[in-house]
Amino acid sequence: MEKDDLVLARILEHIPGSVIVTTTDGYITYINASSEARLGFEKDELAHTSIEDLIFEVEKEGSWEFIRSVILHDNKNYKGETHLVRKDKSTIVCTTNGFCVRNDNNQPEEIVLVFYDITEEKRIAEELEKKNVEMAKINSELLRSNQELKRVSEVKTKFLSIASHELKTPLTSIKGYSEIIIDNMRDKVDASIYTMVQSIDRAADRLHAVINNMLDVTRIEQKRLRLKPEDMSLTETALECIEELSQFATRRNIIFKYDFDRNIPSFYGDRMRMHQVFTNLFSNAIKYSPDNTTVEIFITIDEEERFHVIVADQGIGIDRDELEKIFDPFYEIGSTSLHSTDSTKFMGGGTGLGLSIVRGVIERHGGVIWAESEGARKGEFLGSQFHILLPVRSRIQWDDDETQIIKLNRIMETPAKVYKKMSDEVKEMVLIIDDDPEAIEITRMILQPYFTIVTADSGEEGLRIAFAQKPSLIMIDLYLPGMDGCLICRILRSQEETKDIPISFFTAATQNDEMERCYASGADDFIVKPFNGKEMLEKVTRLISIKYEKERLWEEKKQKKKIL
Ligand code: ADP
Repeated sequence: MEKDDLVLARILEHIPGSVIVTTTDGYITYINASSEARLGFEKDELAHTSIEDLIFEVEKEGSWEFIRSVILHDNKNYKGETHLVRKDKSTIVCTTNGFCVRNDNNQPEEIVLVFYDITEEKRIAEELEKKNVEMAKINSELLRSNQELKRVSEVKTKFLSIASHELKTPLTSIKGYSEIIIDNMRDKVDASIYTMVQSIDRAADRLHAVINNMLDVTRIEQKRLRLKPEDMSLTETALECIEELSQFATRRNIIFKYDFDRNIPSFYGDRMRMHQVFTNLFSNAIKYSPDNTTVEIFITIDEEERFHVIVADQGIGIDRDELEKIFDPFYEIGSTSLHSTDSTKFMGGGTGLGLSIVRGVIERHGGVIWAESEGARKGEFLGSQFHILLPVRSRIQWDDDETQIIKLNRIMETPAKVYKKMSDEVKEMVLIIDDDPEAIEITRMILQPYFTIVTADSGEEGLRIAFAQKPSLIMIDLYLPGMDGCLICRILRSQEETKDIPISFFTAATQNDEMERCYASGADDFIVKPFNGKEMLEKVTRLISIKYEKERLWEEKKQKKKIL
C-alpha cells in the first residue's frame, strides 16, 4: 500500500462513525474498528453476513430494503435513521448516510454506510420531551388550581363583605334598642332585666368589633384600605392604648413597661389605624402571657431615620415555622391551651384576624412588621417580640380623595357657637327616608326628644314630604328599594327649595367607594349602622347647625350689600 493509502485506511478505521461496506446485495465486505467497538462484534464475525441481520426495522424508511432501493434504484444518497442490533441484542439508534461506489463502467459495485450513534442524544431528547409534557401538564394543573384559588379567594372576600354588611343591619336594631334601654329606661325596667340588656349591649359591641375586623380584612385583601393621614404622635397613641388596656393587664398582674426615645418626631399616618395596631399587639401580649409578667414597649428612631417599635412579652412564645403564618388572615396556632399551667389558663385565640389587619395597616403605611421568638415549648415561657419599622413620612400614595376627609372634618369642626338651641317649642324637623321600620323606630327614639320626626318608607314619598315641608335635615337610607338613595339626594340638590337642606345617609357600609358615592351625590355626611345614639345626636345637631351657618353668612352678605 502506498503511504497515503495507509494514512487513509487508518483514518477510516478510527473516525467516530461506524463505516460498513457491503456488496450491492448487502453482504458485508468491510467494517471499521469504530463499528467493532460500537456493535460489539469482531470483524471476522461479521464478514460475509448480511447487513440485513444488523438492521432492526422500526420504520420502513429505516429498513435495508428501503436504503438499498434509494441508493441503487433511485440512484441517490441515503440519509435517514436506522436501528442497529448489537451482539448482546440491544439496539442503538443511528443517523445513517449511505452511498454507492461504482466501477469504471459506472456499475454499482459497493454500498458504503456510515452510522453515527445518536442513542444517548435520542434518550435525552425523549426524556426532555417527556419532562416537557409533564411540565406542561403540571403547568396547566397549576394554572387551573391558581384560577380556582383566585375564585375561592374572591368568593371568600365577597362572602366576608356581604356577611358583614348583612350582619350590621340586624345589629343596628339590637344595639339601638339596648342603648335606648340603658340610657333612658333604667328606672322603668327590672334591675335584673337591665343587667341582661347591658350584657346584650356588650355582646353587640363585641360582634360589631368582629364584623369591623372582617370588613378590614376584606379591604386589605382587595387593596382598598384607605388612610386618613395626619401628623401624629406614635408615643402618645401607644400611651393611650396602654392606658385603655391597663385594667385588663392589672387584673392579671401584667405590667406594661415602656421606653421611648426622647424627641421622637411626629409620624405622618392614620391615627385611628395606628391605635388599632397598638391595641392588637398589646392585647395579644397580655392574652398570650402568664400572670405576673411584663410587657415591654420600645419606640426608637433607627440609624435610617425610621421608627422602630418593639413589643416584647414574656408569654408562651411562637414556634419558628409559625412566625410568618401568624400574619395570615384567620390563622391561629391553635395550641395555646397546651401552655396552660395550674395558675394560668390559656383559652385559645380569637378570630385570627388581628395580626393580619396589623400587617395590612403597617404595610399600607409603607412599613414592615415581623415577629421573633425563641419558640414555644410546653412548660417554658420564651416570650415573643413584634417589630415594626415605619418611615417617618412614607412616599406611598395616600388617600386619593383627601378632599372628602377635609370636607368631613370641616363639618365636624363647625364652631359650637353657631349651634341653635333646640327648645321644645321650636323643634327642628328631621325627615327620615328608610324602608326598614326598625331603623326608623330606633332613629325616632334617639332623636324624638329633641326634634320633630317625619318618616317616609320610599323615595317618592320622601321627596314629596321634602318639597312640601322643607325639613331642617334629611336622612336617607343608601339602599332604598326602587329609588336609590343617591338619586334622591341628587334630585334634592337640583331643586331650588331643597338644595341647601343638609342631607345625611344611613349606611351599613363604611367602605370608601360607598362614602365617595354618598358625597358625589351631594350628601353632607353619613351615619353608619349600627347606630351609636350619642354620635347620631351629635351629628344631627352639627348638620343642622350648618344650615344656620349658611343662613347667617347669607344674612351677612345681604347686610353688607345694603351698607354698600
Ligand atoms: P387572635 O385573635 O387569634 O389573637 P391574631 O391574628 O392576633 O389572632 O394572632 C394570630 C395567632 O398568633 C394567635 O392565635 C396566636 O396563636 C399567635 N400570637 C399572636 N400574638 C402572640 C403573642 N404575643 N405570643 C404568642 N402567640 C401570639
